[in-house]
Amino acid sequence: MHLPSLNQKYKQMKKIEHIGIAVKDLEAANATYKAILGSEHYKTERVESEGVSTAFFKIGESKIELLAATNAESPIAKFIQKRGEGIHHIAFSVDDIEAEIKRLQEEGFRLINTEPKRGADNKLVAFMHPKSAHGVLVELCQEASTQSSGKERK
Ligand code: ZN
Repeated sequence: MHLPSLNQKYKQMKKIEHIGIAVKDLEAANATYKAILGSEHYKTERVESEGVSTAFFKIGESKIELLAATNAESPIAKFIQKRGEGIHHIAFSVDDIEAEIKRLQEEGFRLINTEPKRGADNKLVAFMHPKSAHGVLVELCQEASTQSSGKERK
């Protein structure tokens, strides 16, 4: 793999949207993170297609996403089995996820999904393989807009 070059197409990623943490028991983890952060989670969401149950906490501009498996085949169940609870991924916010996927592929990075898919929290997401980022699973996420209905969120 070659190192990315700062070419003209490069658009800076905007911020750390959230950090995903794999947990065994969502209720217990919610209580722990409430005690740590001093605020309650503001929503929970089940993404059946991904086999996860999630809870979101706000911390400044970023979020903490707790992820628990909803079945034994869930990637989260497998992750915990292999590595125990802990940081699962870091999500970067991008303006144009399709362009970013294309750019990263062209730079030689390995994407797990090359088509954006729907994730939790009204986001379009794509994952980059940990082997491409020094052991970190990287999620790209873009606020999903509903252009057809003309309902823009920004
Ligand atoms: Zn995430």
